[in-house]
Amino acid sequence: MGMTSSATETEPDAEPDSALVTARRQLERAATHVDVEPGVIERLKHPTRVQQVSVPLERDDGSVEVFTGYRAQHDDVRGPYKGGLRYHPEVSAEECTGLSMWMTWKCAVMDLPFGGGKGGIAVDPKALTGEETERLTRRFAEELRDVVGPTTDVPAPDMGTDAQTMAWFMDAYSMQQGETIPGVVTGKPPVIGGSYGREEAPGRSAAIAAREAVRYHDRELAETTVAVQGFGSVGANAARLLEDWGATVVAVSDINGAIYDPDGLETHAIPTHDEEPEAVLEQAAPETLSNGELLTLDVDVLLPAAVGNVITANNADDIRADIVVEGANGPTTFAADAILEEREIPVIPDILANAGGVTVSYFEWLQDINRRQWSLERVNEELEEHVLEAWHDVRAEVDDRGLTWRDAAYVVALSRIAEAKATRGLWP
Ligand code: NAD
Repeated sequence: MGMTSSATETEPDAEPDSALVTARRQLERAATHVDVEPGVIERLKHPTRVQQVSVPLERDDGSVEVFTGYRAQHDDVRGPYKGGLRYHPEVSAEECTGLSMWMTWKCAVMDLPFGGGKGGIAVDPKALTGEETERLTRRFAEELRDVVGPTTDVPAPDMGTDAQTMAWFMDAYSMQQGETIPGVVTGKPPVIGGSYGREEAPGRSAAIAAREAVRYHDRELAETTVAVQGFGSVGANAARLLEDWGATVVAVSDINGAIYDPDGLETHAIPTHDEEPEAVLEQAAPETLSNGELLTLDVDVLLPAAVGNVITANNADDIRADIVVEGANGPTTFAADAILEEREIPVIPDILANAGGVTVSYFEWLQDINRRQWSLERVNEELEEHVLEAWHDVRAEVDDRGLTWRDAAYVVALSRIAEAKATRGLWP
């Protein structure tokens, strides 16, 4: 083990794949492995609808600015649309559509009774005060009121939004409907119907996926080294659990770079992005590395858990990990995926590895509908069960048909969606 001398930087491809382009390509690829009517595939290339709204905001200085918001609803054959709302300057109808397609596959591979949605506002949340964010969110909730609801479309937090944003959204919706409806969004604070364990769930599922992948390859976690890119909600929770379960986490990073200790880092002592932003490089460690160097470390498990498009055609040949587990959404480009497949490096896909988030969102929705809160222990037990069931379903496709883990996950998801469509039929 050690660092490569020819490490490449974490430069995304010049033209990174858009979420919609990737989502359609992955659908087409999965379709070649499943016996599904072409009409169903054609239908799944398109969203049911994309709602575009104008969201006027009175700034603190009294001036008025109008922002554009979106809600893409891809498919609801298996249940209400489900997916995040992001506040980011680059939010667009196309991006929301692509991300909503990913949510359809993610919910289906986890066998949750949800379809895929995604939305947001094209705005820089850092340029807003707390009061402005609240007013913007309440108005957005009002503009989306006709298309969301606990049995139709259930948003959640995403980039630039958090539990407080969901609380405002839920309150605005409930006030207009005349009753408290916690199940209209998930990712709320537990005091108003949020679920315990929601925050750490994507990291927990990524850790479970890494653990199962290690076992699948006949290895012991106690003899496993792990490098984690991104020490935020997903990366830090995954790193800490893997360390608790006996693995040696040799490197972690944030946007500024990585720390590396071949004997293992104490991940609980390193502040997460939420606890203290970008503090990784301030921790004592024998070596610091760039994010590009971290990606090419000779470790057993590489867990990219920061941003998309970091494993690209430029550095896929330099990856020396034996297993890649996608904590982030879309960290591996389509071109890089082909290179890793050729090099026989298994990639456990995002729609399986980080699906703990939407799975606990489902538990939150059940708790809201039943008006009954689950204990953290119950949440974690049921999450473990769900992730393992999905893991075994996907593994069966890998074993029986020799598919990559990504193709296998898409086949599981697409088969479920296609079967539901065939059974329900096209109306009218
Ligand atoms: P976060 O904001 O909590 O943490 C992100 C971390 O990545 C930070 O440590 C940040 O410094 C680092 N980072 C940012 N840009 C980087 C770069 N270019 N190179 C290296 N490091 C960089 O974010 P999060 O919630 O942990 O989300 C991480 C990824 O996981 C995203 O792709 C997100 O879409 C995905 N994801 C998150 C959730 C969730 O519920 N939190 C669920 C599923 C998927």
